[in-house]
Amino acid sequence: MSDCLFCKIIGGEIPSTKVYEDELVFAFRDIAPMAPTHILVVPKAHLDSVDAVTAENSSVVAHIFEVIPRIAREEGLVNGYRVVSNCGADAGQTVKHLHFHILGGKPLAVEMA
Ligand code: AMP
Ligand code: ZN
Repeated sequence: MSDCLFCKIIGGEIPSTKVYEDELVFAFRDIAPMAPTHILVVPKAHLDSVDAVTAENSSVVAHIFEVIPRIAREEGLVNGYRVVSNCGADAGQTVKHLHFHILGGKPLAVEMA
């Protein structure tokens, strides 16, 4: 998607602080961290959000969830961490490229809504 911020980050057109990359997945530090560790994990192939996941493309989501604990270990998140994906307007999704936030490094607030 030529107009997508995270596609541009994946392509190197916009700089980011990369923490992990493989053939399917890119992970980088959030520009406005909401916790001491705040990393975004995204599929390289553009999907709009969780709402676009189907039986045909869900293997990349499984892969992302294999990568997340590896990143968490690398980051030393031994006390736990939160994985969040905002989907759509009511959830406050601001970038319409599927992404999973990894948040950790301190006790996190528990409010869900
Ligand atoms: P969401 O609100 O769930 O769509 O999350 C989008 C996230 O992308 C926010 O936490 C932003 O701080 C983050 N973000 C926006 N632009 C950039 C950027 N250029 N580099 C890194 N993170 C970004
Ligand atoms: Zn994209």
